[in-house]
Amino acid sequence: LEAKEEFSHKTLAMDVMRPRRSDPPLSVLTQDSLTVEDAEALITETTYSGFPVVISHQSQRLVGFVLRRDLIISIENARMRQDGIVSTSRVFFTEYMPPQPPDSPAPLKLRGIMDLSPFTVTDHTAMEIVVDIFRKLGLRQCLVTHNGRLLGIITKKDILKHMAQMANRDPDSILFN
Ligand code: ADP
Repeated sequence: LEAKEEFSHKTLAMDVMRPRRSDPPLSVLTQDSLTVEDAEALITETTYSGFPVVISHQSQRLVGFVLRRDLIISIENARMRQDGIVSTSRVFFTEYMPPQPPDSPAPLKLRGIMDLSPFTVTDHTAMEIVVDIFRKLGLRQCLVTHNGRLLGIITKKDILKHMAQMANRDPDSILFN
């Protein structure tokens, strides 16, 4: 990502992040309220490379980030090899599990596949800084928050597209270095 000057008029993280106002909301996993089939539905219905994990839909507090491929592999493995994992098994990203009702199916613990400290910026962060962080840390994506609530996501491709739009050029012609 060269041409820092393209951001000199202070494009902010909120201008580049997804979802846009007209888009469906961010696809997230909740830390302790999903079932295996809910997670599988999210995988089938979306193509995103990853999913933020939040405490609850209501709080939108960020807990971590899970890559799509890790989620797919873990669920497939658990279904094949782990006793008692069924569609209605509950998925947990929490450290501790609340006591389960006696007749509930075996829970699926997935904390192990979660990145516990995904990179985060606030919606008012200047894109110039975001780009710098992407370059220096080699990020693929970064989450955007406002007052601790998860608002959106910015991928490397989002940045490239945005820069290309601003420069009116083909995204492939602008490369990360
Ligand atoms: P890429 O940007 O490399 O194609 P993705 O396939 O993960 O990566 O994302 C496609 C688009 O969807 C991007 O614009 C990104 O900002 C957005 N996006 C990524 N993850 C999510 C998600 N969990 N929920 C909603 N939108 C997302």
